Amino acid sequence: MSIQPDLSAAIGHTPLLRLRGASALTGCEVLAKTELLNPGGSIKDRTALGLLLDAEQRGLMRAGGTIVEGTAGNTGIGLALIGASRGYRTVIFMPETQSREKIDALRMTGAEVRLVPAVPYKNPNHYAHHARAHAEALNAADPGSAWFANQFDNTANRDWHEATTGVEIWEQTGGAVDGFVCAAGTGGTLAGVGRALKARKPGVKIALADPAGSALAHFVNSGELLASGNSISEGIGSSRITANFEGAPVDLAWTIPDDESVPLAHQLLHDEGWCVGGSSGVNVAGAIRLARALGPGHTIVTVLCDAGSRYQAKLFNPAFLRDKGIPVPAWLARAFPA
Ligand code: PMP
Repeated sequence: MSIQPDLSAAIGHTPLLRLRGASALTGCEVLAKTELLNPGGSIKDRTALGLLLDAEQRGLMRAGGTIVEGTAGNTGIGLALIGASRGYRTVIFMPETQSREKIDALRMTGAEVRLVPAVPYKNPNHYAHHARAHAEALNAADPGSAWFANQFDNTANRDWHEATTGVEIWEQTGGAVDGFVCAAGTGGTLAGVGRALKARKPGVKIALADPAGSALAHFVNSGELLASGNSISEGIGSSRITANFEGAPVDLAWTIPDDESVPLAHQLLHDEGWCVGGSSGVNVAGAIRLARALGPGHTIVTVLCDAGSRYQAKLFNPAFLRDKGIPVPAWLARAFPA
């Protein structure tokens, strides 16, 4: 018999998938962790679990307490679901620009969702500042009643990826991994996996695939935070160095435009049956660039962060894509005629 006690046991241990198209194109083994298969539908279930276990261990969560977080959505969904399974309330602050599908998914969990304007981090109205202030107000009224998860600067996020995602990649490839690449939002995935792999194989290459509009690739390449352009992807890119990203062992970084990444997300669905979101398209684009940089015969790993159904109204909407100047494949135009 093999019986798991609750939702947390279903997080992580995701299959490592061979990406047929990217492998054929590059002559490398291009592999991806299927993080969309987590119970909350994204890689951020791992982050949510890592942060919450750390808080519980440190005595920061009391029975029936309230989890408070600022999130582009996926971390909130993870926290709300794990919270439900453990008897916690969840309050989520989120920029109002995020996809309707993610906002609805959060509301469905019973979490309290507070939408705030999408403003830069230095603005006091940024969703992370709202979340911190709300937790402080709850604790002022009832000490110990709330915990601010703080995914961007709480390094329990990175540590959990180091202990789980990174170790799984090492074991599932039998140590054959030559390079790992992904985008960064908090930076927890990139830094955690990077640390796990470099500790086991110092020559492994760690690369950042950064969406347009983010300052991180320019920072890695020149030491200066500078952003240009924009992207329809959600949950990735940053205008600052978070505590999780700080010191991440990154060897290479590229800015990936939407007209490179979105077609790869479309192809993955049409040719290989995987319906993934925009950040996964950025990651596959990064994996192809890393494969080309290392040359044929190498093993490259990335992550499929979440499902495309979470962005259907944008990523699979011909009118929306045309408006953004992103190519629309013929099959998609036929499926949703104007
Ligand atoms: N992809 C998606 C869809 C996300 O929601 C996030 C997290 N916001 C990421 C990628 C980036 O992961 P990380 O925070 O570990 O950098």
